[in-house]
Amino acid sequence: MRIGVDIGGTKTEAVAIDGAGRVIEEMRVPTGFGADAVIASTVAAVTELADRLGTTPPAFGAIGVGVPGAVDPASGRVAHAVNLGLDDLALGDELAARLGVRVRLENDVNVAALGAFHLLGLGAERSMAYLNLGTGLAAGLVLGGRLWRGSRGTAGEIGHIPVDPAGELCSCGQRGCLELLASGSAVARQWPTEHPRPVQNLFEAAAAGDALAIEVRQRFIDNVASAVRVLVLTVDVDDVVIGGGITSLGAPLLEAIREVLASWSAQSEFLASLELPSRVGLAPAGPVASVGAALLGDLASSIEPDLV
Ligand SMILES: [Zn+2]
Repeated sequence: MRIGVDIGGTKTEAVAIDGAGRVIEEMRVPTGFGADAVIASTVAAVTELADRLGTTPPAFGAIGVGVPGAVDPASGRVAHAVNLGLDDLALGDELAARLGVRVRLENDVNVAALGAFHLLGLGAERSMAYLNLGTGLAAGLVLGGRLWRGSRGTAGEIGHIPVDPAGELCSCGQRGCLELLASGSAVARQWPTEHPRPVQNLFEAAAAGDALAIEVRQRFIDNVASAVRVLVLTVDVDDVVIGGGITSLGAPLLEAIREVLASWSAQSEFLASLELPSRVGLAPAGPVASVGAALLGDLASSIEPDLV
């Protein structure tokens, strides 16, 4: 049995998976804000999960934890997790001390990539990019069954590739980053609404024929398709899997992205040869990130071959 935790902006999810990687128990609690509250809600999730399994956390031995922000898996520290109110926190050590387990800490998009790779049943010979369309835009890379972090953990940070030199100033200090055009926050800026799901609201308005909505929706889709193209052209992964909150839009989102990729292919023999539309898909339903975190649980840096 392996235990994984995904600390999200609003909820913290803990799962137990069996030796074959199937979810056997899961548990959700609201995520606290600030260091003490995040530690407390994570401890509560793991402790309640252990309760349900009729055991206590130390019996788990090790757990994997995914958290947003800049994560150093070696030291278990997290920084710049703005939405959680965390900056430079030794989260791994804090959780280890309270739960009596070893803790592997990893960035949330990276654990979601591992989880999607596993839940899709992709074999170890496959390569996959998990494109997370959330508030921001980032990708996790699983190459040959292993997470590829790059030399400084920056691999897949494609949201900060500048695509418009005259564009808006990004929080990273550059101008015109892809994230400013292809993300939930990008849509929220261009399509202001009180609706709790701005992107869903945008798609509905576009489907109903609203001219501005159609324009904003198309710009968003074009830039998401652009992100898919960047991933294929830089890493040449077999599959680009789109995940994150926005994917609740389902088939209409995927079809729109495929349409853009197909239109580009019609104008470029080179792009056509890459077969982009057939390489993009949606992440599987289910607790992708916490399952991915569980796969980190008692491993230093990779998935065991028998699990993928
Ligand atoms: Zn940026």
